Amino acid sequence: MNILITNDDGIYSPGIAALAKVASRFGKVRVVAPDVEQSSMGHAITASRPLFYKKSPISFGDIEAYRVNGTPADCVALGTHLGQTDIVLSGINMGANIGNGMWHSGTLAGAKQAALLGIRGIALSTPAGKTEPDFELLDPHIEKTLKLLIEKPDSLLINVNFPKNPVGTRWTRQAVTQYDGKIVPGTDPMGRKHYWFTVVPLQAADEETDLWAMENNFISITPLRLDLTDEKQLKINRKMTPEPVEK
Ligand code: MN
Repeated sequence: MNILITNDDGIYSPGIAALAKVASRFGKVRVVAPDVEQSSMGHAITASRPLFYKKSPISFGDIEAYRVNGTPADCVALGTHLGQTDIVLSGINMGANIGNGMWHSGTLAGAKQAALLGIRGIALSTPAGKTEPDFELLDPHIEKTLKLLIEKPDSLLINVNFPKNPVGTRWTRQAVTQYDGKIVPGTDPMGRKHYWFTVVPLQAADEETDLWAMENNFISITPLRLDLTDEKQLKINRKMTPEPVEK
């Protein structure tokens, strides 16, 4: 099993070191990750300048590791070019990636880029607030989850979130009824108005969603799809408006 690992927090994040450590129990790991933080960059790709990679052994011991001047999606495209890849793991992100926050997630984009290339992709995240995640505590949970996902369900794209101290695992759906992004105005030391795009805590969510699972300390596993088509609306629109007729 050839495992490619990326993230969006950058190659020096403790989260990617923790993931590489656990993943190496399942196969041959290659780390290809951004040289600086790319959080909230979503699925951006670098198309207007060249990409470079450099060997980056710090924090990975014997594991092959490279840092790239690009985004998580760039790293997956380049990483799969560098050698055989059977599965891509992205994370472990320092910050949960649930609900509508998934639209911005660079972590998820790494897994999504794999899926676009026809390779299985798994994104992994855990909350990080004032204290750093306890990756020693999470280690057996990460191992158990990777074992389940690598050896059993064969979904192309999966989003995993680990609570601080997991009590179990739930298959979940994406919580889409709430959004946690808000613009908060402030004033800088020079008296100029500025604005922060902030993440605010969400209220209680519907059961079976990723948000609900995390609130109840369950590991949340959500299978995702690439097709964004609203099938229900498509049917309605086709009935409302006649199909174009070929002459
Ligand atoms: Mn991040």
